[in-house]
Amino acid sequence: MHRFCEECGAGMEWFRRGGCCGWECKSCGWNVATSWFDPIEMDQTAYSISLEPSENPAVSKLKLTAEIAGVNWLEAKKLIENAPAELFRGPAPQIKEIRDKLEAAGMKYKIEPEFPY
Ligand SMILES: [Zn+2]
Repeated sequence: MHRFCEECGAGMEWFRRGGCCGWECKSCGWNVATSWFDPIEMDQTAYSISLEPSENPAVSKLKLTAEIAGVNWLEAKKLIENAPAELFRGPAPQIKEIRDKLEAAGMKYKIEPEFPY
């Protein structure tokens, strides 16, 4: 893929710097920049994150489950006891956030489809 500078006609080069990328002229410095999107932000897949069963879950785990699923502690306990139960379904950035919390809490979970992040 080639592009030529609108200012001087020289060949342009693709650049990527920080949160930005685009085409830049090596001759005069004229550039066309576009925002760089993290692939995870562009992912249109709805992922499902579910818990693996766990006996006598600790209060900290109940609290986290309740927070993620948006339910009360009693329902959270049921969710864990009746696992595998879907905890949340949604876009990749949110799934990643929840995954990190579950990891930190040492909880077992499953993400479907396969989560590449
Ligand atoms: Zn130029």
